[in-house]
Amino acid sequence: MSAPNKSYDPVEVEALKPEEIERLRDEALAAFAAADSLDALHEAKVAHTGPASPLSLANREIGALPPHAKADAGKRVGMARGAVNKALAARQGELEADRDARVLVEEAVDVTLPYDRVPAGARHPLTTLSERIEDVFVAMGYEVAEGPEAEAEWFNFDALNIGPDHPARSEHDTFFVRGADGADSGVVLRTHTSPVQARSMLTRELPIYVICPGRVYRTDELDATHTPVFHQVELLAIDEGLTMADLKGTLDHMVQMLFGEGMKTRLRPNFFPFTEPSAEMDMVCYVCRGASVGNPDRPCRTCSSEGWIELGGCGMVNRRVLVACGVDPEKYSGFAFGFGIERMLMFRHNVEDMRDMVEGDVRFTRPFGMEI
Ligand SMILES: [Zn+2]
Repeated sequence: MSAPNKSYDPVEVEALKPEEIERLRDEALAAFAAADSLDALHEAKVAHTGPASPLSLANREIGALPPHAKADAGKRVGMARGAVNKALAARQGELEADRDARVLVEEAVDVTLPYDRVPAGARHPLTTLSERIEDVFVAMGYEVAEGPEAEAEWFNFDALNIGPDHPARSEHDTFFVRGADGADSGVVLRTHTSPVQARSMLTRELPIYVICPGRVYRTDELDATHTPVFHQVELLAIDEGLTMADLKGTLDHMVQMLFGEGMKTRLRPNFFPFTEPSAEMDMVCYVCRGASVGNPDRPCRTCSSEGWIELGGCGMVNRRVLVACGVDPEKYSGFAFGFGIERMLMFRHNVEDMRDMVEGDVRFTRPFGMEI
Protein backbone atom coordinates (compact mmCIF):
# COMPACT_ATOMS: atom_id res chain seq x y z
CA MET A 1 0.00 0.00 0.00
CA SER A 2 1.26 3.43 -0.90
CA ALA A 3 1.38 6.39 1.46
CA PRO A 4 -1.25 9.19 1.08
CA ASN A 5 -0.40 11.40 -1.88
CA LYS A 6 -2.16 14.73 -2.47
CA SER A 7 -1.41 14.76 -6.18
CA TYR A 8 -2.56 11.18 -6.66
CA ASP A 9 -4.97 10.81 -9.56
CA PRO A 10 -7.43 7.91 -9.06
CA VAL A 11 -8.03 7.62 -12.78
CA GLU A 12 -4.43 6.60 -13.16
CA VAL A 13 -4.78 3.70 -10.63
CA GLU A 14 -5.55 0.79 -12.93
CA ALA A 15 -7.31 -1.33 -10.25
CA LEU A 16 -9.74 1.45 -9.36
CA LYS A 17 -10.93 2.37 -12.83
CA PRO A 18 -14.75 2.06 -13.02
CA GLU A 19 -14.63 -0.40 -15.93
CA GLU A 20 -12.03 -2.50 -14.16
CA ILE A 21 -14.17 -2.67 -10.99
CA GLU A 22 -17.17 -3.68 -13.10
CA ARG A 23 -15.12 -6.33 -14.86
CA LEU A 24 -13.95 -7.78 -11.53
CA ARG A 25 -17.53 -7.78 -10.24
CA ASP A 26 -18.90 -9.49 -13.36
CA GLU A 27 -16.09 -12.04 -13.26
CA ALA A 28 -17.01 -12.92 -9.66
CA LEU A 29 -20.73 -13.15 -10.45
CA ALA A 30 -20.02 -15.43 -13.42
CA ALA A 31 -17.75 -17.66 -11.28
CA PHE A 32 -20.43 -18.03 -8.60
CA ALA A 33 -23.10 -18.80 -11.17
CA ALA A 34 -20.82 -21.43 -12.75
CA ALA A 35 -20.05 -23.16 -9.42
CA ASP A 36 -22.05 -26.40 -9.47
CA SER A 37 -21.14 -27.61 -6.00
CA LEU A 38 -20.49 -26.17 -2.56
CA ASP A 39 -16.80 -27.05 -2.93
CA ALA A 40 -16.56 -25.24 -6.28
CA LEU A 41 -18.37 -22.26 -4.76
CA HIS A 42 -15.92 -22.19 -1.87
CA GLU A 43 -13.01 -22.02 -4.34
CA ALA A 44 -14.72 -19.17 -6.21
CA LYS A 45 -15.36 -17.38 -2.92
CA VAL A 46 -11.68 -17.53 -1.95
CA ALA A 47 -10.62 -16.35 -5.44
CA HIS A 48 -13.06 -13.42 -5.64
CA THR A 49 -13.65 -12.25 -2.05
CA GLY A 50 -10.62 -13.55 -0.17
CA PRO A 51 -7.81 -11.25 1.09
CA ALA A 52 -5.77 -11.87 -2.10
CA SER A 53 -8.67 -11.34 -4.50
CA PRO A 54 -8.47 -8.43 -7.00
CA LEU A 55 -11.41 -6.61 -5.36
CA SER A 56 -9.83 -6.82 -1.91
CA LEU A 57 -6.55 -5.56 -3.32
CA ALA A 58 -8.42 -2.72 -5.07
CA ASN A 59 -10.11 -1.87 -1.78
CA ARG A 60 -6.73 -1.48 -0.16
CA GLU A 61 -5.62 0.95 -2.84
CA ILE A 62 -8.35 3.36 -1.70
CA GLY A 63 -6.42 4.13 1.45
CA ALA A 64 -3.62 5.59 -0.64
CA LEU A 65 -5.88 7.96 -2.58
CA PRO A 66 -6.15 11.69 -1.88
CA PRO A 67 -9.23 12.52 0.22
CA HIS A 68 -11.25 13.97 -2.66
CA ALA A 69 -10.93 10.73 -4.63
CA LYS A 70 -11.51 8.38 -1.72
CA ALA A 71 -15.29 8.73 -1.50
CA ASP A 72 -15.87 8.13 -5.15
CA ALA A 73 -13.60 5.08 -5.39
CA GLY A 74 -14.86 3.76 -2.05
CA LYS A 75 -18.44 3.93 -3.28
CA ARG A 76 -17.63 2.08 -6.51
CA VAL A 77 -15.64 -0.67 -4.84
CA GLY A 78 -18.16 -0.96 -1.99
CA MET A 79 -21.07 -1.37 -4.40
CA ALA A 80 -19.18 -3.98 -6.41
CA ARG A 81 -18.23 -5.93 -3.29
CA GLY A 82 -21.81 -5.69 -2.00
CA ALA A 83 -23.13 -7.14 -5.25
CA VAL A 84 -20.51 -9.89 -5.15
CA ASN A 85 -21.33 -10.85 -1.55
CA LYS A 86 -25.05 -10.83 -2.27
CA ALA A 87 -24.60 -13.10 -5.30
CA LEU A 88 -22.35 -15.38 -3.25
CA ALA A 89 -24.94 -15.73 -0.45
CA ALA A 90 -27.71 -16.40 -2.98
CA ARG A 91 -25.71 -19.10 -4.79
CA GLN A 92 -24.69 -20.60 -1.44
CA GLY A 93 -28.36 -20.86 -0.48
CA GLU A 94 -29.26 -22.51 -3.77
CA LEU A 95 -26.50 -25.10 -3.59
CA GLU A 96 -27.28 -25.95 0.06
CA ALA A 97 -30.94 -26.45 -0.77
CA ASP A 98 -29.92 -28.75 -3.67
CA ARG A 99 -27.65 -30.75 -1.39
CA ASP A 100 -30.34 -31.13 1.29
CA ALA A 101 -32.87 -32.32 -1.25
CA ARG A 102 -30.36 -34.82 -2.70
CA VAL A 103 -29.46 -36.19 0.77
CA LEU A 104 -33.12 -36.70 1.56
CA VAL A 105 -33.49 -38.83 -1.57
CA GLU A 106 -30.18 -40.69 -1.32
CA GLU A 107 -30.40 -41.48 2.37
CA ALA A 108 -34.09 -42.21 2.53
CA VAL A 109 -34.96 -45.43 4.37
CA ASP A 110 -37.76 -47.46 2.90
CA VAL A 111 -39.46 -48.83 5.97
CA THR A 112 -41.66 -51.04 3.80
CA LEU A 113 -38.69 -53.15 2.57
CA PRO A 114 -38.66 -56.79 3.80
CA TYR A 115 -36.87 -57.41 7.10
CA ASP A 116 -33.65 -59.15 6.14
CA ARG A 117 -31.34 -59.05 9.16
CA VAL A 118 -29.57 -62.29 9.96
CA PRO A 119 -31.45 -63.66 12.97
CA ALA A 120 -29.58 -64.40 16.17
CA GLY A 121 -28.60 -68.03 16.70
CA ALA A 122 -28.86 -70.02 19.90
CA ARG A 123 -26.63 -72.30 21.93
CA HIS A 124 -27.28 -75.96 21.33
CA PRO A 125 -29.45 -77.57 24.05
CA LEU A 126 -26.93 -80.43 24.32
CA THR A 127 -24.32 -77.88 25.37
CA THR A 128 -26.56 -76.10 27.85
CA LEU A 129 -27.82 -79.37 29.37
CA SER A 130 -24.28 -80.69 29.65
CA GLU A 131 -23.18 -77.49 31.41
CA ARG A 132 -26.16 -77.64 33.73
CA ILE A 133 -25.19 -81.19 34.77
CA GLU A 134 -21.59 -80.05 35.28
CA ASP A 135 -22.82 -77.20 37.47
CA VAL A 136 -24.68 -79.62 39.75
CA PHE A 137 -21.46 -81.52 40.43
CA VAL A 138 -19.10 -78.55 40.51
CA ALA A 139 -21.35 -77.18 43.28
CA MET A 140 -20.64 -80.42 45.20
CA GLY A 141 -16.88 -79.97 44.82
CA TYR A 142 -16.27 -82.06 41.70
CA GLU A 143 -13.83 -80.98 38.99
CA VAL A 144 -14.50 -81.18 35.26
CA ALA A 145 -12.04 -83.58 33.56
CA GLU A 146 -11.48 -84.02 29.85
CA GLY A 147 -9.67 -86.54 27.66
CA PRO A 148 -8.86 -87.12 23.99
CA GLU A 149 -11.55 -88.31 21.60
CA ALA A 150 -9.00 -90.35 19.61
CA GLU A 151 -8.06 -92.63 22.48
CA ALA A 152 -5.60 -95.48 23.05
CA GLU A 153 -7.36 -98.84 22.99
CA TRP A 154 -5.80 -99.58 26.34
CA PHE A 155 -7.59 -96.65 28.01
CA ASN A 156 -10.86 -97.28 26.17
CA PHE A 157 -10.97 -101.04 26.95
CA ASP A 158 -8.11 -102.77 28.78
CA ALA A 159 -7.80 -100.34 31.68
CA LEU A 160 -11.55 -100.70 32.24
CA ASN A 161 -11.36 -104.48 32.59
CA ILE A 162 -12.48 -105.07 29.01
CA GLY A 163 -9.69 -107.41 27.82
CA PRO A 164 -9.01 -108.31 24.17
CA ASP A 165 -11.31 -111.34 24.35
CA HIS A 166 -14.06 -109.71 26.40
CA PRO A 167 -17.45 -109.90 24.65
CA ALA A 168 -18.19 -106.26 25.56
CA ARG A 169 -15.27 -105.24 23.36
CA SER A 170 -17.03 -106.38 20.20
CA GLU A 171 -20.39 -105.03 21.36
CA HIS A 172 -19.04 -101.50 21.32
CA ASP A 173 -19.26 -101.00 17.51
CA THR A 174 -15.91 -99.27 17.53
CA PHE A 175 -14.31 -96.94 14.99
CA PHE A 176 -10.66 -98.09 14.71
CA VAL A 177 -8.05 -95.59 13.58
CA ARG A 178 -5.73 -97.04 10.95
CA GLY A 179 -2.01 -96.27 11.16
CA ALA A 180 -0.03 -94.59 8.38
CA ASP A 181 1.15 -97.99 7.12
CA GLY A 182 -2.41 -99.31 7.05
CA ALA A 183 -1.82 -101.48 10.10
CA ASP A 184 -3.68 -101.42 13.40
CA SER A 185 -2.60 -98.26 15.25
CA GLY A 186 -3.93 -99.19 18.68
CA VAL A 187 -6.06 -96.00 18.59
CA VAL A 188 -9.86 -95.87 18.52
CA LEU A 189 -12.44 -93.11 18.60
CA ARG A 190 -13.52 -93.45 22.22
CA THR A 191 -16.74 -95.43 22.55
CA HIS A 192 -17.55 -93.95 25.96
CA THR A 193 -16.26 -91.29 28.35
CA SER A 194 -15.00 -93.94 30.79
CA PRO A 195 -11.35 -93.73 29.61
CA VAL A 196 -11.28 -90.28 31.23
CA GLN A 197 -11.80 -92.14 34.55
CA ALA A 198 -8.64 -94.15 33.95
CA ARG A 199 -6.70 -91.05 32.92
CA SER A 200 -7.94 -89.18 36.01
CA MET A 201 -6.83 -91.96 38.36
CA LEU A 202 -3.40 -92.10 36.74
CA THR A 203 -2.77 -88.35 36.78
CA ARG A 204 -4.63 -86.90 39.78
CA GLU A 205 -3.94 -86.92 43.48
CA LEU A 206 -6.34 -88.96 45.61
CA PRO A 207 -9.10 -88.48 46.58
CA ILE A 208 -10.65 -87.90 43.15
CA TYR A 209 -14.03 -86.32 42.43
CA VAL A 210 -14.42 -85.62 38.70
CA ILE A 211 -17.17 -85.23 36.14
CA CYS A 212 -16.26 -85.98 32.54
CA PRO A 213 -18.61 -84.74 29.82
CA GLY A 214 -17.71 -85.37 26.19
CA ARG A 215 -18.30 -86.64 22.70
CA VAL A 216 -18.18 -90.37 21.98
CA TYR A 217 -18.40 -92.46 18.81
CA ARG A 218 -20.08 -95.71 17.73
CA THR A 219 -20.51 -97.15 14.22
CA ASP A 220 -24.27 -96.60 14.24
CA GLU A 221 -26.25 -95.27 11.30
CA LEU A 222 -27.96 -91.94 11.93
CA ASP A 223 -31.67 -92.53 12.51
CA ALA A 224 -34.40 -91.38 14.89
CA THR A 225 -32.85 -93.13 17.91
CA HIS A 226 -29.15 -93.53 16.96
CA THR A 227 -26.32 -91.25 15.97
CA PRO A 228 -22.68 -92.19 15.34
CA VAL A 229 -21.51 -89.21 17.43
CA PHE A 230 -23.18 -88.54 20.74
CA HIS A 231 -22.46 -87.19 24.21
CA GLN A 232 -22.02 -88.79 27.59
CA VAL A 233 -21.40 -87.58 31.09
CA GLU A 234 -19.29 -89.77 33.31
CA LEU A 235 -18.81 -89.34 37.02
CA LEU A 236 -16.04 -90.78 39.17
CA ALA A 237 -15.44 -90.55 42.90
CA ILE A 238 -12.50 -92.31 44.57
CA ASP A 239 -11.99 -91.89 48.30
CA GLU A 240 -11.59 -93.87 51.47
CA GLY A 241 -14.73 -95.65 52.58
CA LEU A 242 -17.08 -94.81 49.70
CA THR A 243 -20.04 -97.22 49.40
CA MET A 244 -23.14 -97.80 47.29
CA ALA A 245 -24.99 -95.57 49.78
CA ASP A 246 -22.82 -92.60 48.71
CA LEU A 247 -23.57 -93.43 45.07
CA LYS A 248 -27.32 -93.60 45.74
CA GLY A 249 -27.30 -90.28 47.62
CA THR A 250 -25.34 -88.60 44.85
CA LEU A 251 -27.78 -89.87 42.19
CA ASP A 252 -30.81 -88.71 44.21
CA HIS A 253 -29.27 -85.27 44.63
CA MET A 254 -28.51 -85.03 40.91
CA VAL A 255 -32.06 -85.86 39.75
CA GLN A 256 -33.52 -83.45 42.30
CA MET A 257 -31.28 -80.66 41.02
CA LEU A 258 -32.11 -81.44 37.37
CA PHE A 259 -35.78 -82.43 37.61
CA GLY A 260 -37.09 -80.91 40.84
CA GLU A 261 -37.82 -81.59 44.49
CA GLY A 262 -38.95 -85.05 45.55
CA MET A 263 -37.32 -86.90 42.65
CA LYS A 264 -35.70 -90.22 43.52
CA THR A 265 -33.80 -93.03 41.85
CA ARG A 266 -33.74 -96.79 42.05
CA LEU A 267 -30.98 -99.25 41.19
CA ARG A 268 -31.46 -102.54 39.36
CA PRO A 269 -28.73 -105.20 39.21
CA ASN A 270 -26.79 -105.24 35.95
CA PHE A 271 -23.33 -106.07 34.68
CA PHE A 272 -20.55 -103.76 33.45
CA PRO A 273 -16.93 -104.93 33.28
CA PHE A 274 -15.59 -101.76 34.96
CA THR A 275 -17.90 -101.75 37.99
CA GLU A 276 -18.66 -104.41 40.60
CA PRO A 277 -21.38 -104.51 41.75
CA SER A 278 -23.06 -102.79 38.80
CA ALA A 279 -26.53 -101.35 38.50
CA GLU A 280 -28.89 -99.83 36.01
CA MET A 281 -30.12 -96.51 37.33
CA ASP A 282 -33.76 -95.40 36.92
CA MET A 283 -35.39 -92.21 38.08
CA VAL A 284 -39.03 -91.80 38.95
CA CYS A 285 -40.98 -90.37 36.01
CA TYR A 286 -40.88 -86.60 36.46
CA VAL A 287 -44.19 -86.18 34.58
CA CYS A 288 -46.56 -88.60 36.31
CA ARG A 289 -44.40 -89.41 39.38
CA GLY A 290 -45.62 -93.00 39.09
CA ALA A 291 -49.32 -92.13 39.12
CA SER A 292 -49.82 -93.73 35.68
CA VAL A 293 -48.82 -97.21 36.85
CA GLY A 294 -51.85 -99.52 36.73
CA ASN A 295 -54.05 -96.52 36.03
CA PRO A 296 -55.43 -96.67 32.45
CA ASP A 297 -57.30 -93.40 33.02
CA ARG A 298 -54.03 -91.51 33.40
CA PRO A 299 -51.61 -92.90 30.80
CA CYS A 300 -48.13 -91.29 30.63
CA ARG A 301 -46.27 -90.99 27.34
CA THR A 302 -42.96 -90.09 28.93
CA CYS A 303 -42.53 -93.35 30.89
CA SER A 304 -45.00 -95.50 28.89
CA SER A 305 -47.00 -95.73 32.15
CA GLU A 306 -44.16 -97.61 33.85
CA GLY A 307 -43.50 -94.92 36.46
CA TRP A 308 -39.71 -95.04 35.98
CA ILE A 309 -37.31 -93.76 33.33
CA GLU A 310 -34.04 -95.53 32.64
CA LEU A 311 -31.20 -93.05 32.98
CA GLY A 312 -27.85 -94.84 32.77
CA GLY A 313 -25.40 -97.29 34.29
CA CYS A 314 -23.49 -97.10 37.54
CA GLY A 315 -21.69 -99.09 40.20
CA MET A 316 -18.69 -99.38 42.49
CA VAL A 317 -15.43 -99.14 40.55
CA ASN A 318 -14.10 -102.67 39.91
CA ARG A 319 -11.01 -103.52 41.98
CA ARG A 320 -9.26 -104.62 38.79
CA VAL A 321 -9.78 -101.12 37.33
CA LEU A 322 -8.37 -99.53 40.50
CA VAL A 323 -5.29 -101.78 40.29
CA ALA A 324 -4.80 -101.12 36.55
CA CYS A 325 -4.86 -97.37 37.31
CA GLY A 326 -2.48 -97.52 40.27
CA VAL A 327 -5.01 -97.08 43.09
CA ASP A 328 -4.73 -99.31 46.19
CA PRO A 329 -8.08 -101.17 46.42
CA GLU A 330 -7.40 -102.08 50.05
CA LYS A 331 -7.42 -98.42 51.02
CA TYR A 332 -9.65 -96.75 48.46
CA SER A 333 -13.01 -97.47 46.92
CA GLY A 334 -15.05 -95.50 44.45
CA PHE A 335 -18.21 -95.23 42.46
CA ALA A 336 -18.91 -94.23 38.89
CA PHE A 337 -21.90 -93.61 36.71
CA GLY A 338 -22.55 -92.45 33.19
CA PHE A 339 -25.41 -91.61 30.92
CA GLY A 340 -26.16 -90.21 27.48
CA ILE A 341 -26.97 -86.53 27.25
CA GLU A 342 -28.98 -86.97 24.02
CA ARG A 343 -31.23 -89.46 25.80
CA MET A 344 -31.76 -87.12 28.72
CA LEU A 345 -32.56 -84.26 26.33
CA MET A 346 -35.07 -86.50 24.53
CA PHE A 347 -37.16 -87.37 27.54
CA ARG A 348 -36.61 -84.07 29.35
CA HIS A 349 -37.95 -82.05 26.40
CA ASN A 350 -39.97 -84.64 24.45
CA VAL A 351 -37.57 -84.58 21.51
CA GLU A 352 -38.68 -87.48 19.36
CA ASP A 353 -36.05 -87.61 16.62
CA MET A 354 -32.32 -87.63 17.34
CA ARG A 355 -31.60 -86.27 13.85
CA ASP A 356 -33.02 -82.91 14.97
CA MET A 357 -30.07 -82.61 17.35
CA VAL A 358 -27.37 -82.97 14.67
CA GLU A 359 -28.79 -81.03 11.75
CA GLY A 360 -27.91 -77.59 13.07
CA ASP A 361 -31.28 -76.03 12.28
CA VAL A 362 -31.85 -72.99 14.52
CA ARG A 363 -35.59 -73.64 14.39
CA PHE A 364 -34.77 -76.60 16.65
CA THR A 365 -32.28 -74.91 18.96
CA ARG A 366 -33.95 -71.50 19.42
CA PRO A 367 -37.04 -72.63 21.37
CA PHE A 368 -34.76 -73.92 24.13
CA GLY A 369 -33.84 -70.29 24.81
CA MET A 370 -30.62 -68.94 26.22
CA GLU A 371 -28.84 -70.29 29.26
CA ILE A 372 -25.59 -68.68 30.25
ZN1 LIG B 1 -44.73 -91.08 33.62
